[in-house]
Amino acid sequence: QKWSQCGLTRPILDTIESLGYEKPTPIQMQALPVIMSGRDVIGVAKTGSGKTMAFALPLLRHVKDQDPVTGDDGAIALIMTPTRELCTQIYSDLQPFAKALKLRVVAAYGGNAIKDQIAELKRGAEIIVATPGRLIDLLAANGGRVTNLKRATYLVLDEADRMFDMGFEPQVMKIFNNVRPDRQTILFSATMPRIIDSLTKKVLRDPVEITV
Ligand code: AMP
Repeated sequence: QKWSQCGLTRPILDTIESLGYEKPTPIQMQALPVIMSGRDVIGVAKTGSGKTMAFALPLLRHVKDQDPVTGDDGAIALIMTPTRELCTQIYSDLQPFAKALKLRVVAAYGGNAIKDQIAELKRGAEIIVATPGRLIDLLAANGGRVTNLKRATYLVLDEADRMFDMGFEPQVMKIFNNVRPDRQTILFSATMPRIIDSLTKKVLRDPVEITV
């Protein structure tokens, strides 16, 4: 399969080419058409498989298809990650695409000053990559006037197994419960323990499972 068969727009294809990604990886080949069709997806794949682009490329199209974020709007796409390292990694992976498409991405993670993240969110961003605890703090900041999830319709839970190992289940569920039900939800996990299986039943709608 070739990139040109994946239903991507010209600026995205150009950016992929500039990054030197010659062809889609197996998880990308399987997940891209399913996610682009609007279905919820459970992807069982490890870091290194190319999973980030598998959820990010459809995310970019989803976001670009909608009006830009203005005023007090919150983000259209939300990516939840367990650690600051993964959060900044995904943020940098998205950056060349965001530039090409004129989209704004905010990385919101714990362990550094919340002030700058508040300022960035107040300026408006279509995409937020966040660790769960920090996102909850940001949603509550200034009496809820910093950001919100009212427009969030594309949700990614990355490294779900690690998220649970780290004890983030209550925070993750709290966030899910605050996002409108008519959303598309993508969950990636390196392993599929029973706890993740029961979570998927709660937060995903008739998901397609893809394993590489
Ligand atoms: P990930 O599994 O998302 O952490 O991706 C692992 C690495 O593969 C990252 O450094 C990506 O930049 C790179 N990558 C993602 N997709 C491709 C591709 N189709 N071809 C070559 N490298 C890729």
